[in-house]
Amino acid sequence: MRYLSTRGDATQSPKKTFTEILLGGLAPDGGLYLPEAYPQVTRAELDQWRGLSYAELAFAVLSKFIDDIPPADLKAIVDKTYTAEVYCNGRDASKAGEITPVRWLEPGFGLLELSNGPTLAFKDMAMQLLGNLFEYVLDKKGEEINILGATSGDTGSAAEYAMRGKHGIRVFMLSPHGRMSDFQRAQMYSLQDANIFNIAVRGMFDDAQDIVKAVSNDHEFKARYKIGAVNSINWARVAAQVIYYFRGYFAGTRSNDEKIAFAVPSGNFGNICAGHIARMMGLPIGRLILATNENDVLDEFFRTGIYRPRGTADTWTTTSPSMDISKASNFERFVFDLVGRDPAVIRELWSKVDAGGSFDLSRTPFFADLPRFGFVSGKSTHADRLATIRRTYEKFGVMVDTHTADGLKVAQELRAQDMPTLVLETALPTKFEETIVEALGRKPERPVAMEGIEWLPQRVEVMEIDADAVKRFIVQQVENR
Ligand SMILES: *Cc1c(COP(=O)(O)O)cnc(C)c1O
Repeated sequence: MRYLSTRGDATQSPKKTFTEILLGGLAPDGGLYLPEAYPQVTRAELDQWRGLSYAELAFAVLSKFIDDIPPADLKAIVDKTYTAEVYCNGRDASKAGEITPVRWLEPGFGLLELSNGPTLAFKDMAMQLLGNLFEYVLDKKGEEINILGATSGDTGSAAEYAMRGKHGIRVFMLSPHGRMSDFQRAQMYSLQDANIFNIAVRGMFDDAQDIVKAVSNDHEFKARYKIGAVNSINWARVAAQVIYYFRGYFAGTRSNDEKIAFAVPSGNFGNICAGHIARMMGLPIGRLILATNENDVLDEFFRTGIYRPRGTADTWTTTSPSMDISKASNFERFVFDLVGRDPAVIRELWSKVDAGGSFDLSRTPFFADLPRFGFVSGKSTHADRLATIRRTYEKFGVMVDTHTADGLKVAQELRAQDMPTLVLETALPTKFEETIVEALGRKPERPVAMEGIEWLPQRVEVMEIDADAVKRFIVQQVENR
């Protein structure tokens, strides 16, 4: 299996192997990596995979994408990642070994639970694998990496819990001082591992993000201090997410003759991109239902063919904050397939996007071709979230978080009657307590292991908005080892 860039020119951007692209982000030409052809899954394989455990299935799926890690090593990595101990926050302990159990709300309509990992959000599903893959590859090469990131919540904590205690890896995670919930702060800042560094910046999330950009644009510093990232365009994260679409399909259907629909609360298009890839591999997905919140860049595209990224100033701050995006960083992967995998078209379209503009495919054959990919889309607002959280609790006795509520709302409107629909549950309600209290007048339950984490000692460095101060701090820690 070789990987190419969505903007690549076969001569200029040589194809890469999985481990060659594992630690990087964007391709050098600014594109995103994808397999040169999607591996196909035969009917015989589907029949065999139906009976596998999560870890066995993960090994089978990942083996289609990874051919430069010896199978026995990959098996060991996967077995260590997808265990009942890591995914033990399931509300039903008897289901812990299932990793991503389905919770049926009514016949043919349920939730695929992806939030049973250590930080109670679906990002753990991929990030935990990334941590083990990074450690393995760095050990082999005798190298190390300093991961630098900015977070407003979910991504940073998922990255820290995945990388804690791993050799060869340090994490420097910037967050906006005093602007995360008590729970999110406690989750990150209570980590005492020597390789995890929390930096609270006296500013907003965008200020933290700008510091990351400034440090990464200092190419000499970046190379010298081996600065890396784990953002959502990382190919291995997308590949890891493909696994649970297969798992959900087997849990939601009785035979491989049936189709299924998935509804996905979307932000950067990472999660649903994995669903698209599973479908391209031959998994019988009849419908991919994309849900956005008020930040409806993606809903607009799937309805009209116009992709119109917003400026940061036009991005709403909502009560499903992990979907508050102005442009969808993984979207280029899907458009590459939509335009017949022609990198010249992608270069042209993204020259507009990268210059702050938009593009319009509405009167092109590409847009006419869109139904072939199975997408439908809709949006959800704060009022919809509150109503959905209330209705789901009253009708089914189930509390859902705000992002999952967006998915549920749109799924109820767009589900097909002739196939089961699974809504991807992307976080547990306890992460977004305030809105749950607003909707239901009571607090959500918390997994026992998280009770009182606000009282644990915290470890955090508070800094001004100053990229040089962050650089100095990194140098100190690296040279201090
Ligand atoms: C990151 C996140 C999303 C959005 O996922 P994308 O892969 O960016 O589309 C949705 N819900 C939650 C809770 C998240 O953390």
